[in-house]
Amino acid sequence: MSTSYLRPNFVEIDLAAIRRCTRAIRDAIGPSVKFFGTLKANGYGFGLVPVAKTVLGAGADAISLISLADAIALREAGITSPILLYAGVTYDRESVRAIERYRITPTLHDEASLDALLANVEDQLDCAIKIDAGNERIGVASDIAGDYIARVARSGKLRVAIVNTHPSISGAARADECLQWQYERFERACRDAEAKGVRIPLRVMASSKVLGMTRAMNLDGVDPGQALFTALPGTAAVQPLAKLRTPLLEVKPVNRSDFLEQAPFGGRAPKRLGVVPIGYSDGIHRLNAGAVLVGGRRAPLLGSPAIEYTRIDLTDVPDAKAGDEAVFIGAQGGERITPEDVIAHTKAGRLTDLACELRPGIQRIYLNP
Ligand SMILES: *Cc1c(COP(=O)(O)O)cnc(C)c1O
Repeated sequence: MSTSYLRPNFVEIDLAAIRRCTRAIRDAIGPSVKFFGTLKANGYGFGLVPVAKTVLGAGADAISLISLADAIALREAGITSPILLYAGVTYDRESVRAIERYRITPTLHDEASLDALLANVEDQLDCAIKIDAGNERIGVASDIAGDYIARVARSGKLRVAIVNTHPSISGAARADECLQWQYERFERACRDAEAKGVRIPLRVMASSKVLGMTRAMNLDGVDPGQALFTALPGTAAVQPLAKLRTPLLEVKPVNRSDFLEQAPFGGRAPKRLGVVPIGYSDGIHRLNAGAVLVGGRRAPLLGSPAIEYTRIDLTDVPDAKAGDEAVFIGAQGGERITPEDVIAHTKAGRLTDLACELRPGIQRIYLNP
């Protein structure tokens, strides 16, 4: 479809930043550790296929994600690397057929998922087993995992290719000890399985937070996601979210004296009003720092974004006109609104949380492909 048919809202994503993060991870883990680049949620909002090609070209060995539809989209885009599918899809005839046809490694995490996979698998299939080593999320409890892994290995139809866990560590006290506790429980589960005669080719546990805390838990493979977009501690900062912009759709003076209590602005009536064609259905209510840049100046948002429009107070930018660029994130003239400014304004957690708010209707432009 012609891009002229689309709403003119653009996010510019700097693939060089993602490439630098990926290379830094490869440098940190060395050449022999398997590197799964985790790209859940449409590559954390940055866009699945371009980001997957970038990380595979910059040192990752494989992609891991949660959506089977996304895994198939990677294959259809020509990506041939291993793909690890974390728990999330229901195993039925059709999903398992696609997993086999597209050579995707599915995850087992409980009795129901094992029964469903076994009921539908045709040939021998490599699979992953997810362990809950204290993170209290998806996974086989680590104290019974040795037995579970051995049963999968003896099922005849499934080969244990990967055993993984995704540790949970917060900012609360004793994070290092809690991570060590989860590591030991995970290791013990793997040893229990090995004592039952199972060989585990790949043990994986280090996601971004772990890689940022220690290099002692790289095991056979690592599976960072956020660290593909935000540099690990101790490496140079990067910024993949380069710009979020839209044009002014209409600009006009405001001379309102009647029914001011009903005016949609609240507070002071602006002298000049701009409207941009981006609204909360695009995620803009979570993607703004309370102002945009127009003509190199900060212009405050007026009221709350509507579903597909947002009002701008152009009182201080008197020469602004329809078609001018309005920047929600990025630089214009000498001014800049950073993703950190937006995070401070919206109280989003991290850059990847911000990027996940970029709805699909915003056109993605890739810099430095
Ligand atoms: C999301 C996810 C990861 C990557 O986590 P980050 O914190 O983004 O590095 C790793 N493993 C599993 C199972 C995940 O769901």
